[in-house]
Amino acid sequence: MEKSKNKFYIRTYGCQMNKYDSEVIKNLLLKLNFREVSSPEEADYVFLNTCAVREHAEKRVFGRLDSLKGLKRVKPDTVIGVLGCVAKYHPELIGHPVVDFLAPPDSYRNLIQWLKTKRKGTIPENENEEYSDIFISPNKISSYLSITRGCNYFCSYCVVPYTRGRIRSRPPEDILEEAQSLVNSGTKEIILLGQNINAYHYNGIDFPEILKRVSSIKGVKRLGFLTSHPGDLPKELFSVMAAFDNITNYLHLPLQSGSDKILTRMNRGYKLKDYIKIIEEARNLMPDSNLTTDIIVGFPGEKEEDFQKTLDAMKRIRFDQAYMFAYSNRKGTLSALFPNQVEKKVRKQRLQRLIYTQNEITREKARELIGKEREVLILGEGKKGCKLGKDRNGRIIMTDGVAKIGTEYIIKINKVNGWVPFGGIKKEA
Ligand code: SF4
Repeated sequence: MEKSKNKFYIRTYGCQMNKYDSEVIKNLLLKLNFREVSSPEEADYVFLNTCAVREHAEKRVFGRLDSLKGLKRVKPDTVIGVLGCVAKYHPELIGHPVVDFLAPPDSYRNLIQWLKTKRKGTIPENENEEYSDIFISPNKISSYLSITRGCNYFCSYCVVPYTRGRIRSRPPEDILEEAQSLVNSGTKEIILLGQNINAYHYNGIDFPEILKRVSSIKGVKRLGFLTSHPGDLPKELFSVMAAFDNITNYLHLPLQSGSDKILTRMNRGYKLKDYIKIIEEARNLMPDSNLTTDIIVGFPGEKEEDFQKTLDAMKRIRFDQAYMFAYSNRKGTLSALFPNQVEKKVRKQRLQRLIYTQNEITREKARELIGKEREVLILGEGKKGCKLGKDRNGRIIMTDGVAKIGTEYIIKINKVNGWVPFGGIKKEA
């Protein structure tokens, strides 16, 4: 490939795992003299790294492809590829007028070879791919580090096991080497990633053990992880989180519904009482922990009384924050075939009611912090000249613009801006 023809543009949609994968792709390309540019118009290669988990994310990708028709007309040599879950989920996209190739999630290692030799088609995947030897170095204060790929749970609404395959855990030595290289490149916060991270297992080493080992690397100021499944929490996880100072007491634990009937239909494998027991254990060991969740409303068969149970569960548990969605049918999943699909209008109304309830709780919980002091690591710029950081529970805290990125301060919370606590700097921590 000529050097002048090696400019690429990459756009990432969806979850943290996709953001991490984009860093893996960049790492592969940059090693081979490719250069990243900031717009499709400047690029020889346009990559859309996509998400298929929800209809909305997928629609954005299709809209983007349509908007690239003009570019393809004036620059027909531009190679346009769809990467990620949509590439796997929609093989028919290869017939789209602007799409040259599809690269599903486990095919990125074959990308370069493919670009050299072919123009149209789907890049073959490596079934057991872990990208284990590829260390990203994004030069960021906060970086993701993937430790598992894929998922063995078959929640009835989810495409992930079909698009990303079964769970694979990376060897611990590769994880530790990548963590060390992130710290060397300036990272102070590492967030370990996996679709179901608590299922990590490699030759007798489980998730709490890998957490301890990464936390022991000098220079890791904050260590978090995403995402946990309530059915897979290792026994000693909370005691490890509570014992190690740099592991944030932050737990993102998707509840999805407060109705046992709906949880069964979702194939989640737990009941509300099991979930509440887990939260009680976590809060006993980490009284000030930060708890967030995911909720889906309007799942097929969800009646008003089921939805009411979700509202009641939210009020009882009092999540610090929740990511809330109206159910959308995904072709190929079991729930897409379920009878009693809930009307779109009802799904939307339930979502609004849920958001209203959670927003009140989020605001109340933020206000409870007023007057308290927090140790905050500054991670980036906020709005209106403020700085944003995280406390030891992974909560976002805002402070004055004079704060230096990468520095830890003792901050006294004095108000709440929207949902975000804001505080003044007392001193460096
Ligand atoms: S745990 Fe369920 S929702 Fe999460 S990725 Fe696996 S199948 Fe999807």
